[in-house]
Amino acid sequence: MKRSQEQKKDIGKPAEQPLNASDNKGSVNSLDVEDKIELERREAYIEPQTRDLLRKLLQEGDKKEIIPVYTPGVGFVYPISCSSSGKTETDQLSRDCLENLVELDILHKSFYDSASVCPNCNSTIMTLHNRCPKCKSHNVEKTSLTEHIPCGHIDQRDKYLDNRCPKCGEPLIEGQFKNMGRWYVCQECGEKFENPEFDLICRNCNKNFTIKEAKITEMPKFSLNLERKKEIRQNVASLENIRDILGDLGFRVEIPGLAIGQKSGMQHHFSLLAKKDVNGQEIVIALDHAVSEFEVQTSPLILYIYKTSELKVDIPIFIAMPKLNESAKKIALGHEIMLIEGATEEKGEMEKIKLEIEGKVNQISQKITIADEPVIEEPETKQETKSFFGKLIGKK
Ligand SMILES: [Zn+2]
Ligand SMILES: [Zn+2]
Ligand SMILES: [Zn+2]
Repeated sequence: MKRSQEQKKDIGKPAEQPLNASDNKGSVNSLDVEDKIELERREAYIEPQTRDLLRKLLQEGDKKEIIPVYTPGVGFVYPISCSSSGKTETDQLSRDCLENLVELDILHKSFYDSASVCPNCNSTIMTLHNRCPKCKSHNVEKTSLTEHIPCGHIDQRDKYLDNRCPKCGEPLIEGQFKNMGRWYVCQECGEKFENPEFDLICRNCNKNFTIKEAKITEMPKFSLNLERKKEIRQNVASLENIRDILGDLGFRVEIPGLAIGQKSGMQHHFSLLAKKDVNGQEIVIALDHAVSEFEVQTSPLILYIYKTSELKVDIPIFIAMPKLNESAKKIALGHEIMLIEGATEEKGEMEKIKLEIEGKVNQISQKITIADEPVIEEPETKQETKSFFGKLIGKK
């Protein structure tokens, strides 16, 4: 996840581990802002930590909120607990990650509380000190004055040793003494005062400051953006469903999948990569998952085609939520990309996808068995199309 501009707002505590940055350098420069947000949202949906969070939020129902909790020695943290099969597990979420999901319109943010933080390091870990208004010393004692009514003596409460009046020596009896209120006494200069001043000392950076100098930080709470609930559900569910199918078919599945481009040497991210060995050869499935409010535009598909042009991919799969636009569809068709559109939640839909992938796997494994020379890799697959632009214009 990227977007570091939120980091200045954080509360500067060790719990907020930075997320590993995504790698789409260069490749998104030409996309316009809307496409970029869309692409980032698409990437967020495949980020394992985000998917985990969204799955939990969906499970817990619409009213579920992520609320800041104060942890001594750490500061405010955002835990989310989720009970599955009798066990309750709690994860810590970073504020940056949550703020990023707000920017991507996946989560909603609202006021929960605010607190004073160190003006120097934003820490909430601080101690409060009474200060003498005259000499500024912290050597201040808090006491209360007590009047012994029978003899009229007024003194600090702790001067009445063993509950006896220091003047007349009589014991204090209920109804015969009166508390006159709280007082502070400076042990340095002897000043007595009703209202002390306060100093704060940050225990993270040791800065000493007054309450007025402290900064105020808001701690928001977060919840699912219910307007996107359907889209979120589809996204979270679809990759899980495909993963289950591929697992059933004997593939090793990585979500997200990382691969190094053969020509560029660039690291490419896929929503999912799956591999399976058949007779000593590896069958590779590379899958990207694109999401849009209405229809997925061409750019994520072109990026996908570019990435797959750099690798040996046997079964290219592209998922578009809720659907792919018409011209992009033609490009996908021209590149023999298996296209999945819309929700994959229904059982029948998943069965169809499973059969289609199974069919392709069988085709490829037959070719592998027929080709006796293992040196030559499947002569008529994507490998031969050398140029990315050749692929784009549909040259075969
Ligand atoms: Zn003093
Ligand atoms: Zn007395
Ligand atoms: Zn500090």
